[in-house]
Amino acid sequence: MRVVSGIKPTGNLHLGNYLGAIKQWVGMQADVEAAGGESMYFIADLHALTEWSEPAAITDSTFEVSAAMIASGIDPTRSILFNQARVPAHSELAWLLNNVARVGWLNRMTQFKDKAGKNREGASVGLYDYPVLMAADVLLYRATHVPVGEDQKQHLELARDIATKFNLDYKTDLLLEPEPLISKAAPRIMSLRDATQKMSKSNPSDAARINLVDDDDAIAQKFRKAKTDPEPMGASWESLKDRPEAKNLVTIFAALADRTPDDVVAEYAGQGFGSFKPALADLAVAKLGPIRDEMVRLIADKGSVDAELRKGAERAASLAAPLLRDVQRAMGLRVG
Ligand code: ATP
Ligand code: MG
Repeated sequence: MRVVSGIKPTGNLHLGNYLGAIKQWVGMQADVEAAGGESMYFIADLHALTEWSEPAAITDSTFEVSAAMIASGIDPTRSILFNQARVPAHSELAWLLNNVARVGWLNRMTQFKDKAGKNREGASVGLYDYPVLMAADVLLYRATHVPVGEDQKQHLELARDIATKFNLDYKTDLLLEPEPLISKAAPRIMSLRDATQKMSKSNPSDAARINLVDDDDAIAQKFRKAKTDPEPMGASWESLKDRPEAKNLVTIFAALADRTPDDVVAEYAGQGFGSFKPALADLAVAKLGPIRDEMVRLIADKGSVDAELRKGAERAASLAAPLLRDVQRAMGLRVG
């Protein structure tokens, strides 16, 4: 078992990234170890280049994401933690796989359509090619399982298609089709201002998200001001089905408390959100405060964080090297 996943250093790391990704990965660490496998988590800095960012913002965010992972419990002695740019084999394999992936396959990717919007001609080639780099990220390590959000499922299907075609074209079994790991427990956290949109790094309204670096007051304020309807808590989770704001706050509470949404609704049934929101704010401060404090400490100690990333990259590079060489040889390239 080898689990591989990544997160882009594109700023404003938020509660959705924590509950939907990082916390899930932390929980999986022990299971992967028990199965005698390896966990590899990387900062997808090459992916961050596909949409314009100031170079300094990418650097800062690389430290922020690394700090968030370590502070949340990704242990660099148990998982391989690294930044993608330090392992050139990702880029090298991506180029090779560019010749396996078909233009028609990439044309079907919905994330490109969403992110490029109306300005397709002005989008970077990197944004279009993003799914091939993502395929390389996981195929490089013969990942067996890739924890992803719903939004990345289509890209993982593409990685599987690329692996299949490569193996057929070159009559080999070098590339392993990875399984998506879409945890049912991984919640999708919505914006605090508009529960029809997901909480995201790129939302211009800071009040719409809880940033992992927010101080206690900001966390409490944002939950107190979160949009809700005027009704009190219903009698069951099912009864909230047409109340997206209420559902979102209950989802967040349940995920932070490691309880089921049903259980949380039962405790607050009939009470107004005027009393639920402060309870949620207190819970969030209690759970996120210590992670933030450790993040802040690590962000101030960039040297140690970078040393961990460098060590992780060395381990990742040594795992990647034999596969990359075999792929190059299978394609007829003279290497080594
Ligand atoms: P962007 O808006 O730049 O795409 P993002 O907030 O979607 O940023 P990503 O770096 O694309 O962040 O995603 C990192 C991880 O966090 C992925 O596994 C993704 O599925 C997860 N994730 C992102 N937003 C949420 C959310 N609102 N709820 C749950 N999980 C989320
Ligand atoms: Mg995203």
